[in-house]
Amino acid sequence: LTGRLGDVLSKLKGRGALSEKDVDEAMREVRRALLEADVALPVAKSFIDKVRARAIGHEVLKSVTPGQQVIKIVHDELVEMLGGAEADTSISLRAAAPVVIMMVGLQGSGKTTSTAKIAKRMTTRDKRRIMMASLDTRRPAAQEQLKILGEQAGVATLPIVAGQQPVQIAKRAVEAARLGGFDVLMLDTAGRIHIDEDLMAEVAQVRDAANPHETLLVADSLTGQDAVNVAEQFNARIGVTGIVLTRVDGDGRGGAALSMRAVTGVPIKLLGTGEKMDALEDFRADRVAGRILGMGDVVSLVEKAAETIDADKANKMAERMRKGQFDLDDMAEQLAQMGRMGGMKGVLGLLPGVGKAQMQAAQAHMDDKVVKRQGAIISSMTKEERRNPKVLNASRKKRIARGSGTEVQEINRLLKMHRQMADMMKAMGRQKGGMLSKLFGG
Ligand code: GDP
Ligand code: MG
Repeated sequence: LTGRLGDVLSKLKGRGALSEKDVDEAMREVRRALLEADVALPVAKSFIDKVRARAIGHEVLKSVTPGQQVIKIVHDELVEMLGGAEADTSISLRAAAPVVIMMVGLQGSGKTTSTAKIAKRMTTRDKRRIMMASLDTRRPAAQEQLKILGEQAGVATLPIVAGQQPVQIAKRAVEAARLGGFDVLMLDTAGRIHIDEDLMAEVAQVRDAANPHETLLVADSLTGQDAVNVAEQFNARIGVTGIVLTRVDGDGRGGAALSMRAVTGVPIKLLGTGEKMDALEDFRADRVAGRILGMGDVVSLVEKAAETIDADKANKMAERMRKGQFDLDDMAEQLAQMGRMGGMKGVLGLLPGVGKAQMQAAQAHMDDKVVKRQGAIISSMTKEERRNPKVLNASRKKRIARGSGTEVQEINRLLKMHRQMADMMKAMGRQKGGMLSKLFGG
């Protein structure tokens, strides 16, 4: 996926507004990428239509290439469709205690685990008194499973009484939570392997008996295309107020999130990111959008670049480099640019496919502290020295070291690095811009 979108990017070269053909071609690839990410076909279609409308003729930022502009539009539209960057993901407790939260979903989707995770978080973070009750009378030991999780998480569970049916247990739980003075009652229902009438009828009965304030649909993010069906049916039949997406730690691409949200309009509230009790996160549309695009955080990199790079300055510098005039002032400007983007770590961390090892290797060469000291060295030089570092002799180097609080060896290292960079710049010759344009393939 990354490679494919990368290809789209590199195909969209040149500046100015995007042509319709450029956009069409890119959209074909994005559509394919979405389907690969398990986004349902109709959702992918309507998504592409929206993006196309926005992208055609879209004003391209001075400093950003059109390809990235398209990706950014795609990303922003994804965020929008996922509920927006500022979407409210909180679980509402604005009702008379005990507030009932009912968890529904297919078997194995992560209902019981998520129930305990949410209960634990509400207990420790929100200081609420929670009771959990398992209504799963089908799977052997399902009620014990919740009880054990409750003990681990320090959350009360309804005492198990053998032979009771789900509706009976639900009623008993509401009563026990009321008598016990609990703020919240979480009902963990039974699932089935597939959606069937039996399941829906049972959950509907529980709903009518317990009158939940929130009904959270728990869905496995690896479900893929089936997720839409599940979300639609549960919402139509039971009424869902929020979605909990589990196994986000797996290698699913999060397409299920987009489909479910788009088809039902129900907000995704929480993400399950592991088996442990604290592997629970608030849903963040931008994170999931990035995941669907499968491209690291390219978008924030583009945004940062747009904020921090002065396109005219970059072009002027490119011009000088073409002529082999990369002097120490240019180098200082490059270093400052990097600093504004959060340093070496900031830049690398945002790039897709940069692993930990590569990051460490790069940092060994370009530690942020070193970068700062290099800036100090350069600013301790005279104008003439910055333009033509060859004039620096031993005594001047000593003076500069004293002036910048550094050592002569560091100055020598800097000069060597400058020579290497100057050579590289010359070699890059016809390419535009500096280090950053190179990063962005401008
Ligand atoms: P239920 O049948 O819907 O109640 O599903 P369970 O809560 O029993 O979960 C089924 C399995 O999925 C268990 O082994 C859980 O540990 C695991 N599980 C649940 N949520 C997550 C998650 O977010 N990430 C991972 N990796 N595993 C999860
Ligand atoms: Mg269960």
